[in-house]
Amino acid sequence: MKFLVVTITALTIHLTSCAPTTPALDSTGKINTIRPTSKLSQRGAQQFESIKRTKRISTNPTYNAQIKRVAAKLKKAIHMPGANWEFIVFEDPTPNAFALPGGKVGVHSGLFPITKTDGGLATVLGHEIAHITRNHAGSRITQASGIALGGLILDQITKNRGSSQTERAKIAAGYGTLGTLGLALPKSRKDELEADKIGTMYMAKAGYNPNEAIAMWKRFAAYKQSKGNSRTPEFLSTHPKAETRIKALNSFLPSAMQEYHSH
Ligand SMILES: [Zn+2]
Repeated sequence: MKFLVVTITALTIHLTSCAPTTPALDSTGKINTIRPTSKLSQRGAQQFESIKRTKRISTNPTYNAQIKRVAAKLKKAIHMPGANWEFIVFEDPTPNAFALPGGKVGVHSGLFPITKTDGGLATVLGHEIAHITRNHAGSRITQASGIALGGLILDQITKNRGSSQTERAKIAAGYGTLGTLGLALPKSRKDELEADKIGTMYMAKAGYNPNEAIAMWKRFAAYKQSKGNSRTPEFLSTHPKAETRIKALNSFLPSAMQEYHSH
């Protein structure tokens, strides 16, 4: 694990200096999706299976019904051939969500009191979907140190599958940290803001008012403030500052509203 941590740090530092160059939207406002390699999708699916085995899946009927309902609408708004979408609620009080290449999205039960409405949940799901359709994980790994290093790190993750139950539980508990590797949520500020923007387009296409995104991030900001910075969950602390993202979303709102009204 120590090796892994060192590698993560090196990778993260390098990541911040690189940026994807493909524009998220083309001149007609169509979302440019980037397909991951089949190997990366496969690894994403494997890691998701591993998380499903080690983390408790929520049986909360309200949360499960809501994610099913919202994901069904969003899926119709996405165009990504070959994706194998899966949306799972995990039993965990930490308000967090994550995405893995190939179409895997996990949401913690602790996020639902903050997302509240279908539109609120669509904001988070749209954001996570955008990480996948823009292949943020793939571009990070490639840009960081080439496929070789990416492969090495991914192998390290896959090895987890063969480790003991205790070890796997430890890994599951720390998968948020593993996520910073790039296979799960890459957390560069640029990617996060792009995921917000594209996620808002997805929610608008799916029939959710993009204003709900702003309301949701304000609830997040309030939650964050109530907890104090030292105890801020990873999802919140590594994402851009609330003011920054709300400001960015406000400037993008007219485009999203146009999309919303055209459906
Ligand atoms: Zn994100």
